[in-house]
Amino acid sequence: MHATFTPAVAGPRPRPLAVAVVGGSLTGPVAALLLLQAGFDVTVYEATPTSTPLGGGLIALEHAALDVLDRLGIDQHEFVTHDSETILQIAIRDRQPAHTVRRTYPGRNTTWTLLHRALTARVPAGVLRTGMRVTGLSAHTGRPTLWFSDAGSTSADLVVFADGRSSTGRHLLDPDRALRYAGYVAHRGITTGVPQPDLRDFLRLDPCPGAQFNVAPVPGGCDWTFYLGCTAQEYRQHFGASPRRRLFALPQHVSPAARAHVDSRAAELLPGDHAAIVRATENRMAVPVLDIEPPTRMVWPVGDGHAVLLGDALAPVRPHTARGANNGIEQAAGLTAALTQHHKYDADLGAALRGWQRRHLPAAIAAVQQGPAIGNRIGLGTT
Ligand SMILES: Cc1cc2nc3c(=O)[nH]c(=O)nc-3n(C[C@H](O)[C@H](O)[C@H](O)COP(=O)(O)OP(=O)(O)OC[C@H]3O[C@@H](n4cnc5c(N)ncnc54)[C@H](O)[C@@H]3O)c2cc1C
Repeated sequence: MHATFTPAVAGPRPRPLAVAVVGGSLTGPVAALLLLQAGFDVTVYEATPTSTPLGGGLIALEHAALDVLDRLGIDQHEFVTHDSETILQIAIRDRQPAHTVRRTYPGRNTTWTLLHRALTARVPAGVLRTGMRVTGLSAHTGRPTLWFSDAGSTSADLVVFADGRSSTGRHLLDPDRALRYAGYVAHRGITTGVPQPDLRDFLRLDPCPGAQFNVAPVPGGCDWTFYLGCTAQEYRQHFGASPRRRLFALPQHVSPAARAHVDSRAAELLPGDHAAIVRATENRMAVPVLDIEPPTRMVWPVGDGHAVLLGDALAPVRPHTARGANNGIEQAAGLTAALTQHHKYDADLGAALRGWQRRHLPAAIAAVQQGPAIGNRIGLGTT
């Protein structure tokens, strides 16, 4: 009788984790594409039927985030249309440039629209599910289960909340960290057809303490942000709801009074050509600047699985830190590395997620703390 020879066969690979990503703006799609590339089973749930640019127009990305996009095969030319690395910081006195400091930024400027388009164009059909607003999270038969506004539900092994400043995930997992209004507003506008032939770089104009004006070229025109002090009551009068309720004032929320106020402050404080850019801008928006307690964790156990917070869902930061989108992209890349080590080499999942948290939490905390420090330097904000 022959002895049976059993070849050594590797056991079946564990099935890849099923990941539910909540939020289809920037952080969510970056996380989804990285996780798909690494072989995970991913679905993205986005509340709005079609995403609108809420977070910001112009977005400066540093090299670490640009490199992540590169690794996703997204060529920089697709989302960077003006390749200047220069920031001109200009002190304005009596509406005239008085002193200019030139700095080189370690990165490039893009816009929410260009980046969002480049990302979502690569998300395979069926992965991004729009019109799906998440309202709850529970552990159902051991697995994290998301609940939607239409009473439907879905289960996953890991839930990634990338649902922005008003995050439902943060509200559910870390409810004590409420948003606080910082006492000023980023008024925003995108011009089309306003002649600015000389505008090549990012300009930061400092006319006086308590006001700052940023402008940079974008396809077809320029994008500006005018930071001005504003009480909560003024915000309500100008944009129809309190700053903590109306986290983004879209064009339809910008009242004629708000528009007139910004025009008159521009005429009072800015050089003539910049005041003219503001006056000529039809498409206006506004973002109240908000603060939050720094996060103390990024990962929560839910049944036998986990939930994590990423990007603005974890820690919305003041816009002039220029770190919000950068943080989200860097955190998504770190999360993918941790999950890949778990799946490919059987690394302990809890330890991998805690290691990810240990590496990325300090940067998120630093960015939250940096906001009020910058605000104080330019005389903006109540904290
Ligand atoms: C004026 C301004 C300038 C800025 N400049 C920079 C900069 O230079 N550099 C930089 O790095 N960052 C900058 N930012 C910050 C940057 O825009 C944000 O950090 C970034 O957009 C956050 O992306 P996110 O995907 O995490 O969240 P969001 O862009 O807020 O997206 C969250 C998504 O989740 C969806 N969602 C919300 N709730 C639910 C739910 N319950 N269920 C399902 N989906 C949901 C929303 O519809 C949205 O699509 C700036 C912001 C502003 C306002």
